[in-house]
Amino acid sequence: MSNTTSIIHSVPVDELTGSISVPIYQTATYVQQAPGVNKGFDYGRSNNPTRLALETIIAKLEGGHAGFAFATGLAAIDAVAKLLSTGDEIIAVDDIYGGAYRLFTHIYEKFGIKIHYVDTTDAENIIDYITHKTKLIWLESPTNPTLKISDIEKIAAIAHANQILVVVDNTFASPVAQKPLALGADIVIHSGTKYLAGHSDLVAGLVVVNTGELAEKIKFIQNATGGILGPQDCWLTIRGIETVTLRVERQCKTALQVANFLSQREEIENVYYPGLPAHKNHRIAATQQNGLFGGVISFTLKDDTEEAAVELVTSTQYFKLAESLGGVKSLICHPAQMTHKSIPREKRLQSGVADSLIRLSCGIEDAEDLIADLSQALENVRKKKLVNV
Ligand SMILES: *Cc1c(COP(=O)(O)O)cnc(C)c1O
Repeated sequence: MSNTTSIIHSVPVDELTGSISVPIYQTATYVQQAPGVNKGFDYGRSNNPTRLALETIIAKLEGGHAGFAFATGLAAIDAVAKLLSTGDEIIAVDDIYGGAYRLFTHIYEKFGIKIHYVDTTDAENIIDYITHKTKLIWLESPTNPTLKISDIEKIAAIAHANQILVVVDNTFASPVAQKPLALGADIVIHSGTKYLAGHSDLVAGLVVVNTGELAEKIKFIQNATGGILGPQDCWLTIRGIETVTLRVERQCKTALQVANFLSQREEIENVYYPGLPAHKNHRIAATQQNGLFGGVISFTLKDDTEEAAVELVTSTQYFKLAESLGGVKSLICHPAQMTHKSIPREKRLQSGVADSLIRLSCGIEDAEDLIADLSQALENVRKKKLVNV
């Protein structure tokens, strides 16, 4: 059975009515036959049939033991971080999502958890930071926004030799392109806001674990802390997931065409896209991501000025200027002044987020229209003499 067939048919038909769409159970509580005797549901925070359907689907999609739905991607990350205790340490990818950096550094360090940010694009770099206190290795691959790739299988082998769990934030690749659990990871998290829901119409987070023991722990944390996804948004996420394969395959194909186009333009200094043979870990990405390199591309402009970048991101028509990614409509963003604004310039430059860095999220529009849009925006920047070519 292909991936798409199994996704479509992991969405259950309602047993009560035959409804082909999962019903939205908009309820806070469930009537019990006798105290403690119920139909498997007792209170809306603890369990909900619509949420259960989504959690079952995402577990299947990632090839895991169990899935859990949270209010946002960050709530999902937070639930996993709560597996730790004071004194524990995390080794995290240095180019980590800004919100995860903020959560780890400004909330969890306060509680005595130490985080080492390491360039995980060379798996060996991790070894120097491993101690008996290391409990988690936290990876994103590809990373945001410079699309660095880490070798998940190799890192998982190092981690497991040291009794360390591997967590992969699989938001950028999506389960269509990459299955971290099959590569040896123990936990996968998603911002369901992005490719899974896919229409830029909600925020959601998901956790998938590969053992019953981890499932029990995350279930306990989910119920104890309460950051669950509501039934309406569970339903919308299920609806998004039904078409995720079609969307992501198209977005990846378009992104490769756009990346090739950008590589040939003289206004552009660097193009970051794992699908380009010049990318440092292109070969790892090619096998690890099943030949699908993602829908996100970043690039920098000649002379590297914020002024030129601002002119470019405000002159596109189809690429809408907004944060986020993974939706059906293409988005463009200037990380230095948007997603990475809170990071001091020095630190931002060190992690490769140059002043002129621009991030694109390719939607499902026709590739030639997106390329024409970028072409006219680059012409405009050139005409205004904001790049020297
Ligand atoms: C957006 C994002 C998150 C956070 O998800 P929210 O749904 O916005 O809370 C986490 N990781 C990555 C890689 C993201 O892109």
